Amino acid sequence: MSIYSTIEKTLDSAEKLNDTLNSFLSIERESALARAAELDSNSEESPLKGVAIAVKDNICTKGMQTTCGSRILANYHPQYDATAVKKLNAAGAVVVGKANMDEFAMGSSNENSAFGAAKNPWDVSRVPGGSSGGSAVTVASGVVRAALGSETGGSVRQPASFCGIVGLKPTYGRISRFGLVAFASSLDQIGIFGQTSKDVAQVLGAVAGRDENDSTTADVPVPDYVGELEKDLTNRRIGIPRALFGEGLDEEVRQAVEQSIDNFRSLGAEIVDVELPHTKYGIAVYYILATAEASSNLARFDGVRYGFRAEEARALREMYNKTREEGFGAEVKRRIMLGTYVLSSGYYDAYYAKAQKVRTLLKDDYRRAFAACDAILTPTAPTAAFKIGEKSDDPLAMYLSDVYTVSANLASIPGISVPCGLSAEKLPIGVQLLGDNWSEATLLNMAARYETEFPLGAKPQVHV
Ligand code: GLN
Repeated sequence: MSIYSTIEKTLDSAEKLNDTLNSFLSIERESALARAAELDSNSEESPLKGVAIAVKDNICTKGMQTTCGSRILANYHPQYDATAVKKLNAAGAVVVGKANMDEFAMGSSNENSAFGAAKNPWDVSRVPGGSSGGSAVTVASGVVRAALGSETGGSVRQPASFCGIVGLKPTYGRISRFGLVAFASSLDQIGIFGQTSKDVAQVLGAVAGRDENDSTTADVPVPDYVGELEKDLTNRRIGIPRALFGEGLDEEVRQAVEQSIDNFRSLGAEIVDVELPHTKYGIAVYYILATAEASSNLARFDGVRYGFRAEEARALREMYNKTREEGFGAEVKRRIMLGTYVLSSGYYDAYYAKAQKVRTLLKDDYRRAFAACDAILTPTAPTAAFKIGEKSDDPLAMYLSDVYTVSANLASIPGISVPCGLSAEKLPIGVQLLGDNWSEATLLNMAARYETEFPLGAKPQVHV
C-alpha cells in the first residue's frame, strides 16, 4: 500500500474517533497527505518512512497550530519546527495532528485543557491522565503507532499507565527542548509514547542527540536502541524501594505491580532492596520548583508577542492584565500565583532555596541506589484511571497522582512506564522502571522483554 493511502486511512480514523475521544486538537489532513505523496515519490529509505505520528500541542510545528491547550495561544502558528519535529520529518515520519493536553502541561487528567478533556479509550467516562493525555489516547486507540508528549513531572508515564501503552521520559538533555513551549525549564523534557517499546525505541533513536539550539542537550552518543531490545535480562538487577508501596497505593495496583516483580524475576532479573529516603518530599519540592519556573516562563504571554489579545483595553497595563485574565485558565493562574509567592523576597529562602537543597538530596538518593541496581521499579501511578470530574475540584488530590513520577524529573533521570495488568474494571495498570542517566537502552530492553513475555492481552473499548 502506498504511504498516501496508509496516511489517508490514519486521518480517516483520527477524524472518526475524535468525536468520542477528543484526543486531537487539530488533524492536519492537507499537510499530511502532501507529505505522504512526497515520500511516495522519493525512493530513499529512512527509519520512520511513512510512520504517522501525533505531536502534543505544546511542541512547535511550522504551519500548524500550537495552542498548549490554552485560550491564550488559541490561534498561534509558530514560524518554525521544534528540533524533535524537524528530526522526525528528516526520518520520514508524517505528523498527522496536534494532540490535546492540559493547559501548558499543567495537570494529571487532561481536564485542564481549554478545549475540553480527552477521554480514556478503555472507558470514556474516565480521564486518560495528563498532561499529555491526548497524545496517549492517539496511540492507545490505535490511530498512530507513536506520539510525542512532554514531561515535567510524569506527564508521559502517568497517561501511558492509564491508557495501557508504553511511555518514556528520557534523561534531561537527551532530546532537544528547542521548540517545546517552556513550563518549568529545569524539569521539562519531550517524551515518547508507543504501542510497543520498539515504537518508542525507533522514535527516540530519531529525535535524541545534541542540538546547537538547546545548550542543555548533552553530547552523549545515541545508541542503537532498537538493537538492544531483545537482550536477555539475566544478571540485570532491579531495585525495589519497599517504603513506597504503602499509604495511598490502590490495592489492585499494588497487586499488579507485585506480580510484575515476580515476572521480572522469572525473566532472569535479580531483585534487590533499595532505599530512596527523600522521595517522600518529591511532590512538595516539585510544586515549589515547577511553579516558580512556570511563573517566570509564562510572563512572556502578555498579549503583545503571541496569540490572543484582550479587546477593549485602554492602556498597556490593562491590556496585559485583561489578556492574562481572559487567556489563562484557573490551574495556570493558581500556579503563577504559587510560583510568584515562593520566589518573593520574604519567602525565597524558606521555600525556593530549601526546595533546591532537597532536590540535591533526592538526586543523591538515586545515585546511591543505582550503585546497587540497573533499574528501580515502582508503580507508575497510585491508581488506575479515575473518573472525569472525580478530582477536578481538589488540586491536592490531583497533584498526588504524580507521587511516583515527579522525582525522576527532579533528579533528571529517565523512566519508562509499561503495562503490567488490568484492574477488575478492565482498566490498565502500569509499572515504572527508573534508570541512571543515559540508560534509556536498558529501560527499553527491560520493557520490551516484559511486554513480549507478559502482554496485556486486551484492547481498549474504543479502538480503530
Ligand atoms: N501533573 C504534573 C503537573 O501538573 C506534571 C505535569 C507534567 O509532567 N507536565 O505539573
